[in-house]
Amino acid sequence: TMHNLIEKAYQTNDLSKEEIIALIETIKPEEREILYKRALKTKQKYYGNKVYLRGLIEFSNICRQDCLYCGLRASNTKVERYRLTPGEILACCDKGYELGYRTFVLQSGEDLWYTVEILSELIRQIKKRYDQEVAVTLSIGERGAETYQSLFASGADRFLMRHETATEELYESLHPTMSFTNRRACLNALKEIGYQVGAGFMVGLPGQTPADLAEDLHYLKELHPDMIGIGPFIPHSETPLGKEKGGTVDDTLVMVALARLLVPDSLIPATTALGTLHPLGREMALQAGANVVMPIITPTSVRKQYALYENKICGDDHPEDCRYCIERRIQAVGQEVDLGKGDSWKFIVGS
Ligand code: SAM
Ligand code: SF4
Repeated sequence: TMHNLIEKAYQTNDLSKEEIIALIETIKPEEREILYKRALKTKQKYYGNKVYLRGLIEFSNICRQDCLYCGLRASNTKVERYRLTPGEILACCDKGYELGYRTFVLQSGEDLWYTVEILSELIRQIKKRYDQEVAVTLSIGERGAETYQSLFASGADRFLMRHETATEELYESLHPTMSFTNRRACLNALKEIGYQVGAGFMVGLPGQTPADLAEDLHYLKELHPDMIGIGPFIPHSETPLGKEKGGTVDDTLVMVALARLLVPDSLIPATTALGTLHPLGREMALQAGANVVMPIITPTSVRKQYALYENKICGDDHPEDCRYCIERRIQAVGQEVDLGKGDSWKFIVGS
């Protein structure tokens, strides 16, 4: 029965692909609530009631890749493109530091204007500026292993690169300019070098089946990353998938909860995409196993141009608005903000 499946996931942190498929296909609303409670309890075992904050700086929306789902894809000529200079990025960090953030996530399209030299210097400056008291997370897409190595040597601590989908055919159909094999090679290289690695996937991609989602969870279990980002796919009208349906809040929450149960020690963000689909999407994720939020500190003047999907929240907000909005939301669900670096359990205990 469904109760047995949920209980097995809770007790053993393991489910077969067949069990995951059965759970996804047959879970009822009242059973979802039980799943979420088990995931919350598992989160609390490792991280208590703490929620870690990361200041997100979307520093360039220029991208050489052409992912079918993404509003920043190279073929989308309707986007007004921008790049923040290293000086502007440092100014964002200052603002973020003042607001209490001790992790900065530097995210962008795949923009080779930021050479390994420019990025290395920027990372060194950030680490020095705050006396090594901050963690630097990169989310800049695919580069060579040597580049990843140099950036790590310059002080980058973490790297977010979602695997997007663990099914090779689906991956290839969505990424005309990229390959499944190279994505995996990048993730393996990052892990090997010593980064705290974040993988993850989208829920509700066109053609994605419960079997694909079971594959995602099993891949994550095997990779055992430090972080797992799961968000709904949200269609963007200026992309080839503009008329597709997109993921739902419920399906995404079930995957967040299952990720918590199957990779119990991971850091899991309550994503902006979930907050976009539902006003309380992030709060629901925090009550279903998520324990990280990434408030945006990108300058308000360019925020709306970083549109991976449409109707993204916080476009008119300022960094301080997001800081306190998030804190109120976290407290409203009985959890507490932790302004530390927020390393993963795996990183702290060294396994
Ligand atoms: N360019 C880098 C990369 O792809 O790894 C980092 C930035 S990229 C915009 C960050 C994530 O946005 C992707 O990993 C993808 O999962 C997500 N994303 C892109 N388009 C999306 C959409 N339409 N709906 C939901 N998430 C989307
Ligand atoms: Fe570029 Fe990342 Fe968007 Fe793909 S998901 S088009 S790599 S910004």
